[in-house]
Amino acid sequence: MDWSQLNSKYVLPARRHLLGGRAAQGEEMLRQGLEETGDGWLAYQLAEALLFISPEDPPRIEEACRLLELAVGKVAGDLHRRLAETALDRARAMLALAPKREGRPQTMLPAGDPVRAARPRPRPVVEEEPPPPDPMVEKLKSLFGFESFRPGQRETIETLLKGRSAVAVMPPGSGKSLVVEFAAKSVDGATVVVSGASAKGAVLQVTVEEFAQLQGERIALLVIDEADRLCEWGHRLTRAYAPMRELIGRSAPGVVLALTAVATPRVRAEIIERLGMAAPHVQVGSFDRRNLVWSVIETRDRMTALRTVLAERTGAVVVRTQRRSDAEAVAAALKEEAARVQVIAGDAPVDRRDVRAVVHWQMPASLEQYYVEATEAGRDGEPANAVILHDADDKGFHRTAIEQTYPDRSVVVEVLDAVIERRPLEAILSMRGTARGSASLELLEAQGFIRAAAPGQWEERADAPNRNRLDTGEFDRRRRQAEERLRAMERYVEARGCRRMEMLAWFGERPAAGWQCAGCDRCRAAREGSASDAGVVRQAVVMGVRELEGRRFSINEMSRAMLFLAPPHVTRPLKGKSEAEVRDVINALLREGAIELDGKGQFVRGKR
Ligand SMILES: [Zn+2]
Repeated sequence: MDWSQLNSKYVLPARRHLLGGRAAQGEEMLRQGLEETGDGWLAYQLAEALLFISPEDPPRIEEACRLLELAVGKVAGDLHRRLAETALDRARAMLALAPKREGRPQTMLPAGDPVRAARPRPRPVVEEEPPPPDPMVEKLKSLFGFESFRPGQRETIETLLKGRSAVAVMPPGSGKSLVVEFAAKSVDGATVVVSGASAKGAVLQVTVEEFAQLQGERIALLVIDEADRLCEWGHRLTRAYAPMRELIGRSAPGVVLALTAVATPRVRAEIIERLGMAAPHVQVGSFDRRNLVWSVIETRDRMTALRTVLAERTGAVVVRTQRRSDAEAVAAALKEEAARVQVIAGDAPVDRRDVRAVVHWQMPASLEQYYVEATEAGRDGEPANAVILHDADDKGFHRTAIEQTYPDRSVVVEVLDAVIERRPLEAILSMRGTARGSASLELLEAQGFIRAAAPGQWEERADAPNRNRLDTGEFDRRRRQAEERLRAMERYVEARGCRRMEMLAWFGERPAAGWQCAGCDRCRAAREGSASDAGVVRQAVVMGVRELEGRRFSINEMSRAMLFLAPPHVTRPLKGKSEAEVRDVINALLREGAIELDGKGQFVRGKR
């Protein structure tokens, strides 16, 4: 069995089990594969799985070390051997760091007197000593001046320092640059950050292209920023990201940290796959921004809706549009508010922290994009709003955009024919739209069918493969993913229940027991609706008592009378209520003293 067969039969299914929380099944699958084939690659994979499942269990780490020693001698190819060697070093380091179990034998009960041994021993009297200083926190104070870590920061840094790679999903504002800088200052060797963003701090920041040029550099920590872009298609950037897996293999870094602001569980798994990370630690921050109130305004007249939103608020407001023309029109209409309202088309970031509301002129194409943009509101931690102005027609806009971004096979073939006929570029791009045309050209070039003869001039390659080798599967996959993301966005906009819950669910976050929404339009409407409903019922029952005062009714009889005997101004508000519900209200009013029973069992109005 060759390497790719081993992967598809054992490694990938096992990894899916491991990432899906079915560790035992994943381990079993690799054990079985190793038994059947005796292949070194499976020994390596099983060892990584053991380290992943039981990072602090010495006997299991020892087994991983034995497997890796085996793997180093057996795997085919230089890259695989280096992987196994690196993992072996890491496993030995983990073994040294694992909690010592020396206490275990001594804690066994001494023979002869189990009772006395079980009795609690008197506490030795010692002076209360202050806890020893925590070296991580000490370092945090001296390097950055902070007293404590934010959630997730410490776990990620410690994982890296133990020599294990990590995927960290850090929503905006959770302090990812501190993680990178702290780790960079703690590892022994160079840190390289591959990113589209600008350089800062004590690390070497490079673009993907520059990373490809780095040769012979010994990298201790390799950070892939915005790793979710690996899973996108449609940008030149992604083409640059594509060979990342091989580049990482070539540079053989000590550990890899893949960072992303937003990623669903599926995207996390894809990042791991695309970077070829073996069983990394996955750290996911919370997407629950407690200071934000989420809402959607259904409207056919966005400008009026926007003016209402602005009138209800003071402070800075950001309005985001999908089209530049919309941004210009909105900015022109809100000229008098220009001092506090910033209108942005596209995805340019906002640099102030005191934004009180982010209003989307229309819904974005995905919840990922929406989350990043909406959480620009309230970065100072003060209350803020995230609002979408939604018109049902918005859906068509995004569907068309998806269609045009990911051409189907027939379009790509048409473009190929046009190139062969030597039609000019403008003619090709105008055939099926610029986006589809240039995406088709990129694909054809990448698969070796065409090449650029001169700027704006394409020609068929002499060594072009047979046409049936043309593979548009990537387009189909990306189109399906874009549609799936759009559907999630639509579910959020159309949600009948809690919007916050809808959002968290998409990012794979399961609220803990007792969790409550910190604010969304749906929850507020439900609360106000039931509160006013309850108020009406109470009012009717109090009026009913007044009407029926002086009659000798049991509570059960009184509830029935309220529903059927009382005058219409009492029965009408109670329409649809059951006797039991009315009885509950009567009991509550009795407890509160709003109504009373006199000594003869007659209902009377309460003194309160
Ligand atoms: Zn809610």
